[in-house]
Formats: sequence, structure tokens, C-alpha cells
Amino acid sequence: MLKKYLLAPGPTPVPSSVLLSMAQPMIHHRSPDFLPILDSAKKGLKWLFQTENDVLILCSSGTGGMVGAVTNFFNAGDKVIVVNGGKFGERWTKICQTYGLNVKEIIVEWGYAVKPSDIENELKADPDIKGVFIQAVETSTGVYYDVEAIAKIVRQFDNTLLIVDAISALVAHDLKTDEWGIDIMVGGSQKGLMLPAGLSFVSISPKAWRANERAKLPRFYFNLKKEHENLQKNQTNFSSPVTLIIALNEAIKLLQNEGLQNVFNRHTTLAHATREAVKAIGLSLYSKESPSNSVTAIEMPAGIDGQTVYKTLREKYGVTGAGGQDRARGKIIRLAHLGYADVFDVIVGIASLEMTLKGLGYPLELGKGVAKAQELLMR
Ligand SMILES: *Cc1c(COP(=O)(O)O)cnc(C)c1O
Repeated sequence: MLKKYLLAPGPTPVPSSVLLSMAQPMIHHRSPDFLPILDSAKKGLKWLFQTENDVLILCSSGTGGMVGAVTNFFNAGDKVIVVNGGKFGERWTKICQTYGLNVKEIIVEWGYAVKPSDIENELKADPDIKGVFIQAVETSTGVYYDVEAIAKIVRQFDNTLLIVDAISALVAHDLKTDEWGIDIMVGGSQKGLMLPAGLSFVSISPKAWRANERAKLPRFYFNLKKEHENLQKNQTNFSSPVTLIIALNEAIKLLQNEGLQNVFNRHTTLAHATREAVKAIGLSLYSKESPSNSVTAIEMPAGIDGQTVYKTLREKYGVTGAGGQDRARGKIIRLAHLGYADVFDVIVGIASLEMTLKGLGYPLELGKGVAKAQELLMR
């Protein structure tokens, strides 16, 4: 028997009370039974997103929310900035270009964070830029961008929206949507929210709704104005993913019981311990600045192939992390500490990494990383 441990930055483990909440007889999404369920989800998401504005619930993976964030607020030919510092920044560019937006990329070296001043300079040079697209956490490199500083800049420009892909950052990072002035923030269910894939979430500021009135890009399934109208009646435009929304309520209940600040503190502590343990093993972080609280990207030593490490972790020890994507493939492995994660997830990740590397011939003293993590995680 090989017991399985899921330490990927999505999907993440689902708590048993959330799993059990999905094992209920089906109810009809247009029946009165469903109304309080969606009402509760609506309120819970406002709490989680730290916003007074409605957060829309879409039946899609996270990328669906990203597509909706493009098609509902822009016109073909609109000039926009995309911060591209990894696979998910690249995804913003591809979506924007698919719909005919005029993309100016700010390329960020993988493993580094965008400099807010670079965004400011672009906006000052061209006040006609309609949107700035960023990630909060660029999952492919494990880097957190300074959303607060970026929001402070963008909110000075009346015709420019800030769109944040927070799919892997929500729950792990304190993102003050209203206070900072994030116009559109996208979340997804299978990362910090401890749910299966299938829901995306989009918060929308009044400034963004004004842009929506002028936006003419074609859209049908992800029509956010229609979703918003339906949400007022505790309905969704099309068939509601009832089961996932019930599970969402259970997941939010768990987070509310812990308290938002405690949730952030837990992620900060787990991420810090993971990074220090990695260094104690003698390895380097791939995130050269601003490492995230969601996932730790670890550089593999010379002569050790990251894909072999990823495979060995999974096949020999039952630990599913994530490898590197694209140009980082083979060079890194990533261990998440996101959502339903605690002290012993870190210990499992570090211990299995030590055993794997040692088995592949990397000279290390077993237990050094584990001891460092233990020291930092003792309560
Ligand atoms: C996981 C992820 C997505 C998108 O995910 P889906 O596979 O469409 O759910 C988008 N952005 C970031 C930063 C992610 O980590």
C-alpha cells in the first residue's frame, strides 16, 4: 500500500467535512431550497474577498473567471498591460490576444517580482491604457507580487482597471480588495479554498462595472452582468453547481471558525518553515524575491533532474508535489502549503524530499531540513 499525500498547488486536499457535505441528495437549483445556500455563499465570499461588492460564482475552472474578466470589461483594440513573469502571466496575454486586445507585456524574469514602478512608468507614458493584468501569486515561480503597491498606482488612473488573478493566492495572502482598490479579482475553488475544481469567483468594483457598460467584446456563457442580476435573486444564469456551492459554504465555515488573520498567519508560518528547511538541506529557492505563502519553488542541485525528483516523490513515497513548467521543467520542484495544510504537511514534504534526493545520490545529511522545520513549527 502506498498512502498518498497531496502537496500540489492545486488541486489541494479537501477536508472530510467538506467531502461529506457533497454527499447529499441533489436539490434543484431553481427550488426554494437552493436560495439560502447561494445566499450564504454570496456572503461568505464577500468576507473572504474583503469586499462590499458582490463576488460572482461561475461554474468553471479558474481560467473561466480569467476569460470573463477580459471579455466583460474591454473592447477589441484596447491597450492593456500584462505582467508576464511565468506561465500564468503568459495566460493573461494569450486570453487578451485571443479577444483582440492590444497587449503590452512587462516581462519579468522567472523567479522575480514585478517592480511596481515599471507599471507606473508605462501608465504615465500612455494614459490610454485600459487595464493592468497581474497575478497575486505567479504559481509557476512561487513569487508573490506586491498587489498593494500596484493597486495604489493603478487607482490614480481613472480609465485603467486593475485585474488580479488571485487564484493561488486567496486564503494564503491578505488581499484587501476594497481597501487597496482592486477592480477585478479572480479566485478558483481547487487552491486555497480546499474544494475540487469547478468554481471560479470574480469580484467587481463599481469602476469596473462602469467599464462593463462600454465593453462590447462578444460573450455568452460568461456574461457577468447577467450573472450579477441573477445573483441578486440568489440564482445563477445557468444550472448551478449546487454540490460545489454546498461544499464552498462548508469550506468557508472552516475558514471563518479559524478567523481570517489566523488563516493568513498559518500560511505565513508554514511557508517560512518550508523555506528555511529547504535552505537547511543546502538547496536554494527558485523565487529569488518575494516568495509566496502558497507554494515553495525549490531549485534542484546540479546533476539532479527535477522531473525525476517529482516522479520519485510520487511513485516511491506517494507524495504529489509539482514539477517545473516550461523553462523551469526539470530545474525545480514545488511543494505547496495551501488551504487544508498544517505542520505535518510541511514535515512530510521536507522528509520525502530529503529521502528522494539522498536516494538519487545527492550528498545530504538526513533530517537536517526536517529538524529545521520542527524547530520553527513547534507551538
Ligand atoms: C491554477 C491557476 C490558474 C488556473 O487554473 P485552472 O486550471 O483554470 O483552474 C490561474 N492562475 C493561477 C495563478 C493559478 O495558480
